[in-house]
Amino acid sequence: MTYDDQNIFARILRNELPAIKVYEDDQVLAFMDIMPQAEGHTLVIPKSPAVTLLDLDPQEAAYTIQVVQKIAKAMEKALDVKGIVLMQLSGAAAGQTVPHVHFHLIPSSVHELGKHGVQMGDQDQIKVLADKIKAAL
Ligand code: AMP
Repeated sequence: MTYDDQNIFARILRNELPAIKVYEDDQVLAFMDIMPQAEGHTLVIPKSPAVTLLDLDPQEAAYTIQVVQKIAKAMEKALDVKGIVLMQLSGAAAGQTVPHVHFHLIPSSVHELGKHGVQMGDQDQIKVLADKIKAAL
């Protein structure tokens, strides 16, 4: 699938747009979702320009999942969560809205997830949660 290098996450990766980051290395970035579906909602993205999981190099996919697990463990420790929903939408038909592959980590239950977050979260409160996750990494 053709990659649009002006998508929001590409711009965050180039530091053209702000993000509340919790983890970064040379291949992956994790940051807080701006419209969280639950407290602590975090996104993990590979830095490669892939639109969906299907476009991503398998080794990069494997490494991204390792980081997803690392963040999930930190969330469990830092936020005292009981369960985490891992969600990955591939394609607009699946509901994907940002065309750069990403994994949602949502401290919630699948039975409580409604529609996508439709309003901005309190960014100060989100920053506090991010600091707790970072401290637990
Ligand atoms: P999806 O529908 O799976 O493509 O999810 C895209 C996610 O990106 C949604 O949960 C949005 O709330 C989130 N999002 C959109 N713009 C930003 C942004 N600038 N910073 C952080 N998260 C964002």
